[in-house]
Amino acid sequence: MNQSAAGPRVHMIPPSRRMQGSGLLATMFLPSLLTRPACSSDGLSPSLNLSKCTTAMANSHTRIKDDCLNLLIVGGGVIGLACAKELAESGHDVVLIERHRMLGSETSSRNSEVIHAGIYYPPESLKTELCIEGRARMLAFSRARGVRFSLCGKLIVACTEAEISALDQIEERAAQAGPEIALQRWSQTKVRSKAPAVRAVQALWSAGTGIVDGHQFMHQLRVAAEQAGALILPAHSMMSAHSTDPGFEIELTLQQGPSEQHYFDAVVNAAGHGAVQVARHVCDAVPEQIAVKGNYFAISGPAPADTLIYPVPRPNLVGLGTHLTIDLAGRARLGPDVELDADSNQMAVSADRLDAVWSAARHFLPSLRRDQLMADYAGFRPKLAVDRFADFHIGGDDAPTGWINLLGIESPGLTASLAIARRVRAQLDQL
Ligand SMILES: Cc1cc2nc3c(=O)[nH]c(=O)nc-3n(C[C@H](O)[C@H](O)[C@H](O)COP(=O)(O)OP(=O)(O)OC[C@H]3O[C@@H](n4cnc5c(N)ncnc54)[C@H](O)[C@@H]3O)c2cc1C
Repeated sequence: MNQSAAGPRVHMIPPSRRMQGSGLLATMFLPSLLTRPACSSDGLSPSLNLSKCTTAMANSHTRIKDDCLNLLIVGGGVIGLACAKELAESGHDVVLIERHRMLGSETSSRNSEVIHAGIYYPPESLKTELCIEGRARMLAFSRARGVRFSLCGKLIVACTEAEISALDQIEERAAQAGPEIALQRWSQTKVRSKAPAVRAVQALWSAGTGIVDGHQFMHQLRVAAEQAGALILPAHSMMSAHSTDPGFEIELTLQQGPSEQHYFDAVVNAAGHGAVQVARHVCDAVPEQIAVKGNYFAISGPAPADTLIYPVPRPNLVGLGTHLTIDLAGRARLGPDVELDADSNQMAVSADRLDAVWSAARHFLPSLRRDQLMADYAGFRPKLAVDRFADFHIGGDDAPTGWINLLGIESPGLTASLAIARRVRAQLDQL
C-alpha cells in the first residue's frame, strides 16, 4: 500500500469479515459525499441525492445481521443496479460505484429495450435459464413499480421456403427450453392480417416478447436499492484492487480526484466493457471481451408494424439479424446490425452501414424506402466469442473468494438482469 505524500490517500481500514461492515460504510465515503455537487430528484441524473445517501447510511448503521457482507459493486449499468437491489434487500451492506456521472449510460442505454422470451439460445444455457427467470422478475417488478412496458409480441419471419427449416429449429429449441416460451406457427395470411407491410411465407409468433422503458427500469432499480440501504455513487471509479484474503483493498477516485483505499469483504464486477480490466487486478486468467458494434437506423413516418419483426437469426448468434423494433412511443427503427472490427471509441452510428441495413430489412419489408432511414444510435455488445455461441460468465473462474466477475453480459442481459442478480446473490451466499 502506498502511503507516500505523492501517493493515494489511504484509509487504514482493518479487514472485517462479517458484521463490522455496516458501521464502516457510514464513515468511509463521508468526505466524498460532502464534496459532491448539488442533488437532483432524478434518480439517473448526474448528481447524487445526498438525502438518499444519508438515509442509506442510516439504514446501514442500524442493520446488523450475522451474514452481512460489506460489498462493492463496480458498474452502475442495469446489471450493477439489479445486483445492488438484490444484495441490499438480502441484508448486505452495498456500495455501488459508477465511473460516469450518469448511471446506465453505456450499453444499458444503447440497446433495443426488448423483453426477450428466451427463444434462441441452447436450452441448457444460462442465457435461456436467466432470460426466462429474468423476464418474469422484470414484469413483476415493473408492474409493482409502475415501469412502462408493453407485451407487443414478436414475429420471426421466414421470407422464403428455404428459411422455414430455420423456424423449425427455433421452435424445437424453444420447446426444449420450457413451456414458458410458447411459440405459435403463423401462416402467410395470418402474418398479413397482423402486419400487412411484412413479407413472410410463414412465421413464429411469440406473444411473450415485449418492450420496456429501460431508463425507468434502471431508475426504479436504483430507488429499490437505495430503499434497501444501498449507497449508489456515480462519478466514482475503481482504479485498482488487490486481494487481502479475506477481502479486498480497493483504490477508488471521485471524478479524477485523489484516490482512497477502502476495504470490502466482497466485490461484484459488473463493469460491462470495463469488466476485463477490472478483473485483471485480482485474476490471472480473464477471458477477452470483443466489442461488436450494432448500429440502429430510425424509420421516419408511421411504424411499418405494431409488433417486433425479426428475420431468422444469423449463424452462431453473433446477432439476431437486423430487425424492426418499436419503442413505447410507437417509433420504429431497424437494427442492430453486426459491425465487427469497429473502433469501440466511436459511439456515433456508422453511416456507411445504411445500405446494408436497408437491404437486409427489405427482405421482410419490401416497400421500405432508403430515404425513410436515418442514423439513430449505436451500442457495443461485450461478446466472449464471435465465431460460436458463448454464454454469460458469472463468477466460476479463478477469482479469489468473494470476487465475482460478470463477463459477456450481452443480450439478453437487460431482460435477465434480475435473475443474474439472484445468481450473484446465490454465489455470495456460499461464502
Ligand atoms: C446493440 C445491443 C442491443 C441489445 N438489446 C437488448 C435487448 O433488446 N434486450 C435485452 O435484454 N438485452 C439487450 N442487450 C444487452 C443489454 O443491453 C446488456 O446486457 C446490458 O445493458 C449490460 O448491462 P451492464 O450493466 O452489464 O453493462 P453497462 O450498461 O455497460 O454498465 C457497466 C458500467 O460499468 C461502468 N464501469 C466500467 N468500469 C468501471 C470502473 N473501473 N469503475 C466504475 N465504473 C465502471 C461503466 O461506466 C458502465 O456504466 C443489447 C445490447 C446491445 C449492445
